[in-house]
Order: sequence, then structure tokens, then C-alpha cells
Amino acid sequence: MNNNIDLREQTENLVKLQSIQSGKKRINAMLSKVDKKFSDLDRELVASRAIVDKKEGDLENQRKKYREIESELNMNAPRIDKSKEKLRAVKNNKEYQSLLKEIEDLKKQSSSMEDNMLECLEQTEKLEAAIKESETEFQSIKEHIQHEKEDVGKAAEKGKLELETLNAEWEQVSAAVAPEILKTFEKTRQLVGGVTIAPVINAVCQGCHMNIPPQLYNDIQRFDSLKYCPSCQRIIYPVVE
Ligand SMILES: [Zn+2]
Repeated sequence: MNNNIDLREQTENLVKLQSIQSGKKRINAMLSKVDKKFSDLDRELVASRAIVDKKEGDLENQRKKYREIESELNMNAPRIDKSKEKLRAVKNNKEYQSLLKEIEDLKKQSSSMEDNMLECLEQTEKLEAAIKESETEFQSIKEHIQHEKEDVGKAAEKGKLELETLNAEWEQVSAAVAPEILKTFEKTRQLVGGVTIAPVINAVCQGCHMNIPPQLYNDIQRFDSLKYCPSCQRIIYPVVE
């Protein structure tokens, strides 16, 4: 180790680098979720619209059903008239009775069709009210989603700016770290993943919460070379509490 290196100062810089790295990791994790968040929100909007569309389809079906029954009913009226006409011309009782029965049946059919039309109208009114309700809900969900998207978009923009700042800080701080120490830091980072340098408080490594052997604990106070936690392999440094 180069004797001109102040290891205490170098360690402070490594701690700063670690903090920059953790910040970058946090922001990148947030940014990586942005696309999914957007598509989730789009899906939510589509689902909410589908509820309205479904009810509008049901309404259209009710109206169609109403028109069909109505035209059936309109066809029944002349049939009744025709049978009544025939009734006036019949000669024998049997024919008379049979025509009466036919008229009665046609009237029953008409009456039942009228009931069905009323039922259709009731359903139509219910659906119209339900559509109004769903449409209101859809509008409110739409607004909520718009706001949510704006928030996510703003957070992403902010995150990107923060990343730029952190990258610049990284450049600045790492330039103050001796190349061999920076190299060791990077190598250790690849080895342990995530947090690379951990404080030791009361002889306990804060990276893995294991005890540091007494001799090593003494050694790290001297700051004469980089030391590693025997349990988690992170670079360690003493912090007095
Ligand atoms: Zn450890």
C-alpha cells in the first residue's frame, strides 16, 4: 500500500461511494417499475371502460328486444281484426266457438307481449341508471389514473435527474480514491453484491451482524490497510458509538 495514502480519508470516500451506489440502485429500481406501472394503469382504465360498454351492450339488446316484441304486437292487431271480421260471417256454432277461442288466444298473446314490453322498459330504465353510475365511476377512475400517471412521470423525471447528480458525484468522489483502492472496492462489490463497505460498531459488522475477532477489531482502528469482515467479506471500518 502506498504510504502517501490516507486510508481514513479513502475509507470516508468509499463510504460516500457506497451511499451513491445505494441511491442509484434505489432510483434504478423505481425507474424499472415505471413502464409496468403505466401499463397497469392503462389496464385499469380499459377494465373500467369495459364495464360501461358491457352495460351499453345490454341496453342495446333490451331496446332491440322491445322493438321486436312491438312489431310482433303490431302484427297481432290485424290478425285479431281479421278474426273478428270472420266472426260476423260465420254460420254455425262450432265455427263461432273456434273463432272466439282464436280471438281469445290472440288477445292473450298480445297481452303477454305487452307485459314483456313493460318488462323491457323496466330493464331499460335500470340499465340507463346503471350506465350513468358506471360512467361517473369511469370518469373518476380516469381522472385518478391521469393524476397517478402524472405523479409517476414526475417521480421518474426527478429520479433521472437524481441519477445524473449521483453519477457526477460518483465521478468526483471516485477521482479522489486511489486507483488500487477503487479497484478493490469494485472487485469486492462484485463479490458481495450490493453493500460493499460496512461499519463495525462495538465489534459487530453492520453488514452481517456477526462479531469481528478481537485482533481484527484492533487492527481496523489503525487504518493501515483495507480490512474485510471474515463472515460477509465486506470491507469494514470502525465507527465509535
Ligand atoms: Zn460482515
